[in-house]
Amino acid sequence: MQNLWTDKEAQNYKTELELRVYSSRLLGRDPSLVLHGGGNTSVKITKKNLLGQDEPILYVKGSGWDLVSIDAPGFAPVRLNHLLELARLEQLSDPQMVNELKTHMTNASAPTPSVEAILHATLPFKYVDHSHADAVVTITNTAEGKKRIEEIYGERAVIIDYIMPGFDLARLCAKQFAEQATDKTEAMILLNHGIFTFGDTAKQSYDRHIEFVSMAEHYLQQQNAWDIKYTEVSLVSDSANIIQLRKDISVAAGFPVIVKTSDNQKLKSFSQRDDLARISQQGPATPDHVIRTKQLPMLGTDVTNYVKNYKKYFKTNAALSKDSKSMLDPAPRMLLDNKLGFIAIGKTAKDANIVEDIYEHTVDIILRAETLGGYKALGDKDIFDMEYWDLEQAKLKKGGSAPEFTGEIALVTGGASGIGKACVDALLAKGAAVVAVDINPAISDLYNRPDYLGLVCDVADEQQIINAIDQTIHHFGGLDMLVLNAGMFPLSCKIAELSTEDWRKVMQVNLDSNLIFMREAHTALQHAPNGGRVVMIGSKNVLAPGPGAIAYSASKAALTQMGRVAALEWGGENIRINTLHPDAIFDTAIWTDEVLQARAKNYNMSVEEYKRKNILKTELKSSDVADLAAAMCGKLFAKTTGAQLPVDGGNDRVI
Ligand code: ZN
Repeated sequence: MQNLWTDKEAQNYKTELELRVYSSRLLGRDPSLVLHGGGNTSVKITKKNLLGQDEPILYVKGSGWDLVSIDAPGFAPVRLNHLLELARLEQLSDPQMVNELKTHMTNASAPTPSVEAILHATLPFKYVDHSHADAVVTITNTAEGKKRIEEIYGERAVIIDYIMPGFDLARLCAKQFAEQATDKTEAMILLNHGIFTFGDTAKQSYDRHIEFVSMAEHYLQQQNAWDIKYTEVSLVSDSANIIQLRKDISVAAGFPVIVKTSDNQKLKSFSQRDDLARISQQGPATPDHVIRTKQLPMLGTDVTNYVKNYKKYFKTNAALSKDSKSMLDPAPRMLLDNKLGFIAIGKTAKDANIVEDIYEHTVDIILRAETLGGYKALGDKDIFDMEYWDLEQAKLKKGGSAPEFTGEIALVTGGASGIGKACVDALLAKGAAVVAVDINPAISDLYNRPDYLGLVCDVADEQQIINAIDQTIHHFGGLDMLVLNAGMFPLSCKIAELSTEDWRKVMQVNLDSNLIFMREAHTALQHAPNGGRVVMIGSKNVLAPGPGAIAYSASKAALTQMGRVAALEWGGENIRINTLHPDAIFDTAIWTDEVLQARAKNYNMSVEEYKRKNILKTELKSSDVADLAAAMCGKLFAKTTGAQLPVDGGNDRVI
């Protein structure tokens, strides 16, 4: 493990708190130390309060901040003396503890302090660094774990047996640390959990952290338990199976979920092992992982059976509060299957990504521990306690109302610009995971976020459409909303002059492609947990055609008719199809300034007048169409299908 500290970089961080920021970020840069909000750090600084008194303050990582990107405001300032007094209490419930942490901060707008704050407070060192380092956890999660840790660190580390995070852990650590620590102590190892190092300076504490974790890595290398061989595996995509699986899991969860098939070779290879049932079902690597991944991976695709066992297990744990029971969500968060490989499940695409990342590290930990003599994780009871921990439940409750399309998947054609891009934005804003397809290669990099997938796709090519739907299912698990927007607007041409070739080209892009999208998306739309929705972007020309655009007008009219027929055919399957007829949307690529000026001149109008050439005298934007398209997928239009709605500022020929 590389020590990333450089004095040159450190010079940019002047104060004690700034140096805390610097070395916290260094820890955060290494995913084998800290993953997605895991790990926490602190520094103790004496400050003058308003009364002029010196007061020692613990600056500890606040929730909602990741070490890799933390800044000074990410550290919650808590009165240290109060924390030390709390640590002496016989008992303190976890919700009470959180209340004490929050009410003893010196800045009301600081984030909620880490639940490990009291533990940080009790360690009598200025800087404290804590991580759930893979290498350390690998060694502690073996049958001989404690012995091995003693062998590696000797007098340099105090070792604490596993206990669930929270007040009891803080209290136990304070007691045992005081009893066991000597002037040689540089670290504290929590079995099945992680490592704490400390020091007088940010550098000393960080250096020790890297040194101690490197010692664990070195030990694994010596025992030939470091390099794990993975075989390349290629799995055949099985869309129908994934669509059904997502439906089953969404029903079990009570809300739509994202189901991501992993492309990670390590995870795919792991899913093919003969001993999968044994090694994957022994428990997560650290309690921190339970919070994010929930229990163990489901094996195979039988969701009903998984839920049955989960509920049975739940019932036998009578100690749970009523509150916890009412929040039961028995859906799995990950799945291993020899045909599908590894599947990550989440309320959002981001959650699914976190599950995938964490399990990738878990696989390293399991396989290395197996080589070392056998992986041995937390017991069932410990996992269960973590999963239904009061604090975690409180977090869930606090979540508030999620955006309308959370857990749902939308596909937008022609998503790179204009109305299509505006639809992508509107659907992302409403919480959907969005797949955008376009012939423009810029589509791939339109956004870099877990809930966006941009696919280059020529809609004139049937196979490319089939592939796009397939990738959507593979990446997010299904398809709930389809926005058919892609289209071309050819140069003006009268019927008498129109070539068959030009006519066919327009029909292929504006009409045929949409039939293929509809047909290929049908199975997924049928299985949409909240019902499938299709929005077609038609045109004013359907209702009020003009001369010179026969191919365009006819293609949009036929598309509209396809929507009406689909509404009849698919209504029984809870799929709604509606059509929008926009007009005069000028903030798109085809309307350059020159074109606008020429058109306005034709009408003897200024550009501004020309843009508002409608009954409401209003200017229309792509986002107006997109907002309506997104709304038509939502609750407001839940009982509307087969409808056509103009978005044109009012047109006397349409009205
Ligand atoms: Zn921890």
